[in-house]
Amino acid sequence: MAQSKLITDDYAQLTATKFYDDLQTKQTGLTAAQAAQRLQQVGPNTIQQTQSRSQLKAFLKNFTSLMALLLWVSGLIAMFTGMLELGIAIWAVNLINGCFSFWQEHAAQKATDSLKAMLPTYTQVLRDGHTQQINATELVPGDVFLIQAGNSISADARIMQATSLQVDESALTGESLAVDKQAAYAKGEGRFAERNIVYAGTVAVSGTATAVAVQTGMQTEFGQIAALTQHQKTTVSPLTTELNRLTRQISLIAILIGLVFFVAAIFFVHYPIAKSFIFALGMIVAFIPEGLLPTVTLSLAQGVTRMSKRHALVKELSSVETLGETTVICSDKTGTLTQNQMTINHVWLPQQTYKVSGEGYVNNGHLTLTDQPVDLTSDNDFTLLLRIAALDNDTDIKPGQTTAKPKIMGTPTEAAHLILAQKAGLDLDQLRQTYPRIQELPFDSDRKRMTTLHTQPDGTTVIYVKGALDSTLALCDTILDHGTVRPLTTADTERINQANQHYAAQGLRSLAFAYRPFDGSHDLPDDPANCTIANTEQHLTFIGLTVMADPPRPEIYAAVEKCRRAQIRIIMVTGDSPLTAKSVATKIGITSDQARVVTGDELSAMSDDALQTAVKGEVIFARVAPEQKYRIVQANQHNGEIVASTGDGVNDAPALKQADIGIAMGVTGTDVAKDAADMILTDDNFASIVAAIEEGRTVYSNLQKFLLYILNSNVPEAIPSVLFLFSRGLIPLPLTVMQILTVDLGTDMLPALGLGAEAGEPGVMDQPPRARDAHLLNKTIIWKAFGWYGLFASALSTFAYFFVNWTNGWPQVALSASGNTYVLATTMTLAAIVFCQIAAAINCRTTYNSVFTVGLFSNRRIWWGILFEVVLLAALMYVPVLQGLFNTTAIASRDWAFLLCLPIPLVLIEEGRKALVRHWQA
Ligand code: ATP
Repeated sequence: MAQSKLITDDYAQLTATKFYDDLQTKQTGLTAAQAAQRLQQVGPNTIQQTQSRSQLKAFLKNFTSLMALLLWVSGLIAMFTGMLELGIAIWAVNLINGCFSFWQEHAAQKATDSLKAMLPTYTQVLRDGHTQQINATELVPGDVFLIQAGNSISADARIMQATSLQVDESALTGESLAVDKQAAYAKGEGRFAERNIVYAGTVAVSGTATAVAVQTGMQTEFGQIAALTQHQKTTVSPLTTELNRLTRQISLIAILIGLVFFVAAIFFVHYPIAKSFIFALGMIVAFIPEGLLPTVTLSLAQGVTRMSKRHALVKELSSVETLGETTVICSDKTGTLTQNQMTINHVWLPQQTYKVSGEGYVNNGHLTLTDQPVDLTSDNDFTLLLRIAALDNDTDIKPGQTTAKPKIMGTPTEAAHLILAQKAGLDLDQLRQTYPRIQELPFDSDRKRMTTLHTQPDGTTVIYVKGALDSTLALCDTILDHGTVRPLTTADTERINQANQHYAAQGLRSLAFAYRPFDGSHDLPDDPANCTIANTEQHLTFIGLTVMADPPRPEIYAAVEKCRRAQIRIIMVTGDSPLTAKSVATKIGITSDQARVVTGDELSAMSDDALQTAVKGEVIFARVAPEQKYRIVQANQHNGEIVASTGDGVNDAPALKQADIGIAMGVTGTDVAKDAADMILTDDNFASIVAAIEEGRTVYSNLQKFLLYILNSNVPEAIPSVLFLFSRGLIPLPLTVMQILTVDLGTDMLPALGLGAEAGEPGVMDQPPRARDAHLLNKTIIWKAFGWYGLFASALSTFAYFFVNWTNGWPQVALSASGNTYVLATTMTLAAIVFCQIAAAINCRTTYNSVFTVGLFSNRRIWWGILFEVVLLAALMYVPVLQGLFNTTAIASRDWAFLLCLPIPLVLIEEGRKALVRHWQA
């Protein structure tokens, strides 16, 4: 293999033989052994990320935030003004806090990174002479692989055969117009201009091709560019912006308060400047919500991980918040609302209807037809239709290894037709050999048809067409009736449409079949190779219909009901026929039978205003082209809706990008759609969208719970300083600066994280979507944090301080900032705050529901967090070194009893409040 000497472009001009020789491959592809050996040699086909530098930067960032800088400086001041131990302690806390923040960010990053690995790109290669699907990372130079519209191209490769191939090379060249590609060499202008070369990182937007990989991984042009310009793009979500703003605002207020306290300490209490500074620092640290951003990021990432378990992969953390706001879902029908397990149950010919038996995919080797027996051995109308079903088909099926369900490489619609042919006893391989395909006009969702040309055993050529009835029948002027071709009459058209409507009303979908001899008619080109849609798909002879059942997904009913309760509207947007669409929509409860059905044609004629009005009511869009989805999404957005839209094809990309949440199908979706989407469903299931929305709502409400929890401790942390100031220093500080740091940067952290992992509260989908302009920190949270939880906690912790003093010879000791009683009293204040926070962690878990209903112990992380904070507190009280640093001491068992009882009234009072709220709301 001499490939390393040449760059990809050099391969463009070689003769095919020389090219294959150079790459030591052949038309039928590599053998599995060769491929394995080359994989060893060149490595996996991936673009490696170099992250080490950014990792270090991310680590250091945690030590240079406003709060961290403040702590470094304070520590330094403490050290230089004779408070060495305090200085060391401040630095130590700062260090631990920075590491913890970094760990949180790292964990969040890991969670999102691991999602990427869950969505591999597959490539169809020829190995050992057979087509097989492999993970694109296993592609090696010399591999012969197939390209279809919607595929991302995984290697730099030379095209050996192509049909109408167009490639979007914008990722490489910036050029947004798709480029025509072909097998013959032609030099265009500039770089990447060879017409017979495709590059990794680009995508096929139409047509099909066979290509041979020349370079893979970092050796590709894309890999080379990536190696030069590697940097990770980070987008800033609205939530991050809001949090940054929030943190800045609160920090500013904290600094102002700190300044006031600083001045007051100097002038009222006559503290020296350094000591006043440290005192003010306590206030600043108490109020700055330092852990906010990393905790929020982690809790979003945890939400993303939970979503992935519910089959929804989110690419950006910010999508989680948008999901929670979703008000409208524009959903495809086939495969999303329905199972996409097509079973043909009728074949309709003008003279006869056949009922096809045999469930689902089971290939029982013979076709059982009710009604009249049919002769499957001779050439007749029925066998012609079967032949088209088998040959005008790009799908392949392989027997399933463990189930009766075969492995499908292609679409279920086409697979159903292959199975129909197999059930009739046709040998697919033999048929393909007898009627070799010489040309193809591939299926696309816009014209809703597919055409192939074949050589027949007698040497003549024939055109086979299958497609949506309306778009195919319109091209027919004759009909095959009892073996004879006669002109298609209005009565025929009516009968065909009636039959179609009869099935569609039952939610069944049909496909029309037609053919035309390639007979030298003047409108046809001389050479089949010059066939185009315009000159070939006309003057067809109608043969009949196949009718397929595609049952709704069983879980869809509950998901639709959930959306109704959550006030999320569902708009079905499908390529299928209006009647089928409406029948399915009413069956699964998306709309009533009064819903308006707008077809693609009507939509084209509609003004934007009319469309905006239409989407406000009950509406279904049928027979729409994917491009039209874009307008539907936009019209909804114009009405102020937050729109989630599904899609799977190449042409769905604009709508997916326009939607607030673009959702691609992971199983049937093209790489293009997956690329354009914000979220990918690994099971293509509508119910997974609803599950993701539920998670989105949960994550947001968890963030509010978390915020409430951390703000809550600010009040009891501030009150002691206020007491100290207002008594002009007469009452010594009931809580030292180090103790404030302990709560804020130590004991509070893990329970707060636990709140981020809280499961969805019952009823989260019984509320309307959150308004887009709603703020994370709203009045209710401020009131609860400062006027409710905070107040109780302050009263109890201040009580703890005076309680110790009272039991130790009140009032003298209360007024002295030295001696054992003072240390004991501050220790008790600290401990009381920690125990109040335990109650707060329990209380914050639910907003409306009783915590006992959701299960007191259902969130293990909270309890691990609580255990951690109690152990940390105990360590501070009992480990001699820490006692010195944190000004703490061991407490008596009576004090422990007091502490352990503290959370009980707090939880009960809050439970009472929630019960009252529930009562009023009921
Ligand atoms: P949805 O848009 O909800 O996924 P759909 O599968 O009907 O529904 P498309 O894939 O855009 O949407 O297909 C549109 C129509 O084209 C189908 O209703 C069918 O009549 C026809 N069709 C689908 N697949 C093929 C095919 N492989 N060959 C020919 N015609 C097809």
